[in-house]
Amino acid sequence: VESFRGKRVALFGLGGSGFATARALVAGGAEVAAFDDAESRVEAAGAAGVPTNDLRTADWSQFDALVLAPGVPLTHPKPHWTVEAARAAGVEIVGDVELFCRERRRRAPDASLIAVTGTNGKSTTTALIAHIVREAGRDAQMGGNIGTPVLDLAEPRRGRVYVVECSSYQIDLAPTLDPTVGIHLNLSPDHLDRHGTMENYAAIKERLVSNAKLAVVGIDDRYSSAIADRIELSGTPVRRISVRNPVSDGVYAAGQRIFVAEDGAQTLFTDLGGIDALRGAHNAQNAAAAIAACLAVGLDRQEIVKGLKSFPGLAHRMEIAAREGSVMFVNDSKATNADAAERALASFERIFWIVGGRAKTGGIDMLSDYFPRIAKAYLIGEAADEFSKALEGKVEYEIAGTIDAAVAAAARDARADDHREPVVLLSPACASFDQFANFELRGAAFIEAVGRVLQKPRGQE
Ligand code: ADP
Repeated sequence: VESFRGKRVALFGLGGSGFATARALVAGGAEVAAFDDAESRVEAAGAAGVPTNDLRTADWSQFDALVLAPGVPLTHPKPHWTVEAARAAGVEIVGDVELFCRERRRRAPDASLIAVTGTNGKSTTTALIAHIVREAGRDAQMGGNIGTPVLDLAEPRRGRVYVVECSSYQIDLAPTLDPTVGIHLNLSPDHLDRHGTMENYAAIKERLVSNAKLAVVGIDDRYSSAIADRIELSGTPVRRISVRNPVSDGVYAAGQRIFVAEDGAQTLFTDLGGIDALRGAHNAQNAAAAIAACLAVGLDRQEIVKGLKSFPGLAHRMEIAAREGSVMFVNDSKATNADAAERALASFERIFWIVGGRAKTGGIDMLSDYFPRIAKAYLIGEAADEFSKALEGKVEYEIAGTIDAAVAAAARDARADDHREPVVLLSPACASFDQFANFELRGAAFIEAVGRVLQKPRGQE
């Protein structure tokens, strides 16, 4: 990035994105002083040619800007005073998305930027849009809060479409964020630890859409619906998204059928039935938003439908790991709390449920409405005892202990089941840390175990 050429820039946080930002600033001719709480990261940055400096003793009058890496909470005790001291000295505080926006305006203002936020569904929607755009033969660059840091993407060029997932934090640190299409999906209480109040959290999300050329806003919760009304009043063009009710200007779902409403006319756009990666009402919301965005950047219906149909889905989020006859094996390892597991349970009718790990507060009590769908539960990890109590007398269960044992038992039972579509579902409603380093490794273990089971004939699991 060249917007800081010759400027003195302090950078706090040298994880993945912070590191990419530091390199981009150095390459663009900025005078960088990078720092992190972790000494090993400071050393690694130094070794990679990024100048480092202990920012705890910085003289802020020496700096033009402070760049904060995503994931460094503003309230974090250590950077807190750094941020406060920098702010007091009048130093501009920004993040990597802001740097990207400046670069785009300088180099290729006509490269489209589709920015995506919301409490849930950001990654799915971002990946879906990038997939549709690529399938249509155009150059989509996807990154931000998902996958590649924005400053590691190919440089802005005419014709490129950037699809960037933005966390609240990244929006907060991007004062001139000006997407071609801004998407806000939904809002529910989450991350309130970081943002204080719901009003504050909503105000941050609102900024992403209020400065967009076109705002695509999900209106199925009251906060988001108020955002749509407010920004429209202030002159931003808005396309509304709903999976509950028809809208008059936007995209809505009636079950699996998606309608586009425009100029008083309602047209059936497509039917999501049969697209495995887009099961469930929450995915209808994601798909509807993706459709609105893709139409706005000039794709036609045929191109969009083709992309929707071939979307492979994201790993570990209701990912179909395998099928054998009528039996489906689904990896939803990303469901690290009951709220996320609820979407999975709501999406299938006959479930052989692998659940457990390190329990979150509240456990699985809130899921009891879905217990009738569960043919049997296979409990794993530390939560097995606690969850067995929640299921007692309501759902048949066994304590399997490990993923391997759970998959073997669940496969045996599902294969013997005569329901139309039995599903062996890993949707743990728990953190993975008791048995795995992260949810990705837990999902990989599930997929491997499924592979092993399917190599053996039925009845010999
Ligand atoms: P994010 O990037 O916002 O965390 P993801 O696309 O990774 O969202 O989805 C995470 C989980 O949230 C999914 O497994 C699913 O259970 C749920 N989810 C996805 N889309 C939505 C949506 N539009 N509304 C509510 N929940 C959703």
